[in-house]
Amino acid sequence: MQTQVQKESIENAIEQAKLFGMLKYLPEGELTHAPFSLSPYSISTSELLEMIELTPYFSELMINVSQDWGFLDETLSPISKTDPFLKMLLDLREHEVSQSRQLLVQRNDFFLIKDDIGKGGHDSSSSGEDTSASALRQVEINTVSASFPFLITQLTRLHQHIFEQIIPNNPLKPVVDSFAKAIKDYGSTDAIMLLVSQPAESNRFDQLGLEQLLWDEYKIQTVRKTLTEIYENGSLSEGHLILAGKKVAITYYRAGYTPEDFSTSCAIKGRQLIEASSTIQVPDLAMQLAGMKKIQQVLTRPEILSNFVSEEISKRFRKTFVGMHSLDEIIETPEGEISASEWASINPEKYVLKPQREGGGNNYFGKDIPKKITEMKREEQDAYILMEKIKAKTHQAILVVNGKVEKHTSVSEIGRFGICFAENGVVQSNEDVGYLVRTKAKNVNEGGVCSGFACLNSLAKA
Ligand code: ADP
Ligand code: MG
Repeated sequence: MQTQVQKESIENAIEQAKLFGMLKYLPEGELTHAPFSLSPYSISTSELLEMIELTPYFSELMINVSQDWGFLDETLSPISKTDPFLKMLLDLREHEVSQSRQLLVQRNDFFLIKDDIGKGGHDSSSSGEDTSASALRQVEINTVSASFPFLITQLTRLHQHIFEQIIPNNPLKPVVDSFAKAIKDYGSTDAIMLLVSQPAESNRFDQLGLEQLLWDEYKIQTVRKTLTEIYENGSLSEGHLILAGKKVAITYYRAGYTPEDFSTSCAIKGRQLIEASSTIQVPDLAMQLAGMKKIQQVLTRPEILSNFVSEEISKRFRKTFVGMHSLDEIIETPEGEISASEWASINPEKYVLKPQREGGGNNYFGKDIPKKITEMKREEQDAYILMEKIKAKTHQAILVVNGKVEKHTSVSEIGRFGICFAENGVVQSNEDVGYLVRTKAKNVNEGGVCSGFACLNSLAKA
């Protein structure tokens, strides 16, 4: 039973959330607050520092991978035979005008596992060899549409009113600053930002928050359009993309990562128009592809990873990786050497089955794994990867979802935002700019905030 005081403070928090613009649309079109937690997630300084330190290295990895078209093509082409979405993306390359300048705004997501398995930090043993384990386990790196910089900044403000020890967090400002810098570097005064949106976007407020600050701080206008609208309203002039009579200096994708965004030929033509122009794309095609789950799986192999990062960084990365396999890969198991798909079919609780998709709701868990594997034709299996399921540390959390309070044994996924500028693949500036925490009930598989699975949260010093 909630006490009167608790009830009032929760109602107060909900009103604050609305006041701060932490809003989302319900499927019926009604507005509500974005789901949030009232139990900040405690993290140790060593775990926090390790995550922050790794961010620029992961950004650089994505830049380096994006420069190696041969590797991207060789790894992804076999999948494109059964995955028309991936084929469409790879085909875009043909008419693409490459830009010398690159801007990556990424978010690298992790779970923390139980303390007895690993402690953060990287102390050295007497031999000088780094033998420490890590408590971090990477879920995935998002190179396209890394969302929530606005909503999470607002949630941190809200939490700072209520709790002590909240770890400061403002990814909003640096993301907006990076847009402004890219627009300035493009060299046209009076140029605009194009935000590529989905037709019905429930997470619109996270995007509007970015647009608002870009205007307030820099007087830079954002034009928001779907891919189809870009085809219908856009044009090329001397290599520039023109919309609403203005040059588009940067194109920021908050759409274009799922097949539904390309369901009409006009939408594909919209993307082709962007590709054929000199606008700086956040991210460009190669960076978007570098963030695909198949690439993540292949990069868990040390001999491949070492093509892109130093041995020292490779070791630090690999401590945060869990096993990832193609379905036909032969793996060592207690029952001998068998294919990963067979092993996962016997032990579905230990794995997540993932297609080459972003945006939540696409993965298979538990009993659905063997079911899906049996349904698939042999060639289709290339488009999926198996990832070991991460057993995240649990904690008790009070979650506020659409005005209702729930208490759950929960897990929290922490994302670190990274911003990286590169010129012809050479990194110019590269930093960690803040975090996202999404907290969800332990037994919930997927992690989307706007789909209602997870709640925004902040970090507190342990
Ligand atoms: P998407 O591109 O759809 O966001 P993710 O790889 O991030 O795909 O998976 C979606 C959600 O599924 C994650 O936010 C996480 O909650 C859960 N998930 C993904 N991989 C794992 C894993 N290996 N172990 C446990 N949960 C996972
Ligand atoms: Mg994800």
